[in-house]
Amino acid sequence: MPGPEVRSRNRGLLSDRLLECGVVGAGGAGFPTHVKAASRVEFVIANGAECEPLIHKDAELMKHFPAEILSGTAAMMESTGALIGKFGIKTKNAAALEALEAQPPPAKIEFVMLGDFYPSGDEFELVYAATGRLIPPAGLPVHVGCVVNNVETLYNVHQAVRGIPVTSKFVSIAGAVREPKSFWAPIGTPFRELLAMAGGAAIADFAVFVSGLMMGSLTFDLDDVVTKTTAGLIVLPRDHYLVARRDRPLAHMHHIGKSACDQCSYCTEFCPRYLLGYEVMPHKVMRSLGFTLTGAQNWNQWAELCCACGLCTLYACPEDLYPKEACDQGKHDRRAAGLKFVQQKPVQVHPMKEYRRVPLSMLRKRLKVEEYEAETPFEARDCRPAAVRVKLRQHAGAPARPVVDEGATVQKGQTIGRMEANELGANIHASMDGRVRRITGEYIEIGT
Ligand code: SF4
Ligand code: SF4
Repeated sequence: MPGPEVRSRNRGLLSDRLLECGVVGAGGAGFPTHVKAASRVEFVIANGAECEPLIHKDAELMKHFPAEILSGTAAMMESTGALIGKFGIKTKNAAALEALEAQPPPAKIEFVMLGDFYPSGDEFELVYAATGRLIPPAGLPVHVGCVVNNVETLYNVHQAVRGIPVTSKFVSIAGAVREPKSFWAPIGTPFRELLAMAGGAAIADFAVFVSGLMMGSLTFDLDDVVTKTTAGLIVLPRDHYLVARRDRPLAHMHHIGKSACDQCSYCTEFCPRYLLGYEVMPHKVMRSLGFTLTGAQNWNQWAELCCACGLCTLYACPEDLYPKEACDQGKHDRRAAGLKFVQQKPVQVHPMKEYRRVPLSMLRKRLKVEEYEAETPFEARDCRPAAVRVKLRQHAGAPARPVVDEGATVQKGQTIGRMEANELGANIHASMDGRVRRITGEYIEIGT
């Protein structure tokens, strides 16, 4: 084990490389990884607990790129001074576990076996499962000595150590497509090209969920593009129950909630954050809909620690109401008003937590997507779009600023957008060789 000076130097080195190579959390949040690499912690936790229904891209990634993921974990451990690595993985992903265990361990990394429940990948859940520690209310894993990285982020850390920037994204294409599969796609690839890689939609009239049915977004725009946080696409019939639920305007959601919520509190009783001991109570947030102040909602504070997992809206509520969306709005409005949440009781795990976990099989049934559950096997064939649109903001923080001009010739891996010094964000890179066709306030378009 290197001494403190060497460790401090390594920490700075890795953090600089991750910043240069544009590595951000690939699991959804897009938090710049160089910030995590610069922290001091006891545990680095690899998050392989993929739990969005129908998305299996992390399972495929772990199966096919185990050495790279473990190497990235070891690099983060060295950088942060962590002596122990924990690797959260579901027991059901036996082939991925076997592939990981077959590698010579690059550091002390212990596997944490998880059941097939939703949500297992939430940082608060995973830190508790891996270490028994509870992140303070409104706190971060680093406050209890942990750094958590998604397995694809760790793959990207391994690449960055070798000077290779993030130019592609590992995605799963699932649902009503002819050949569900997982593959690497250049950042900025239009969704219609991803669908073509999966043999196209198997139905004529469809909608697309981006990055998940529970926490992702619904779109009908096939010209939208892959970013560093896109987990994949799920195609469902346009008249599917979930599409109808998600496509409803927010004002309608609130209006129905105001008249139909009977305060049964199932939404709270199933809430994973509530069961961990945090004061998240969506049924009380729903009460806010009944009280208005000059026409605007007068939100209470019980949404503040909600992780937007969607379980209350899409699983728990017997009336098909929208407590998660009420929580989203409540959090947004209270933050805009500068109101701060203070947990009033000590965080204490609910005695029923283990008995109220939601198995993925039950969740798929409730979402009416059982018929679409299928493997999405990895295909090594390259996805080669004719053009890409690399978004300037694909991460938490400020957008990158273009450092190329329209008409310039660029090569794959070349930096095309940078952050200012000391600004939170991530650099962006050309994801294909070509010419810069267009630069807007939103993206840089590159074509052949
Ligand atoms: S589960 Fe539905 S009906 Fe029951 S309190 Fe929550 S929002 Fe209201
Ligand atoms: S979305 Fe609902 S169930 Fe999930 S954390 Fe928020 S309040 Fe709890």
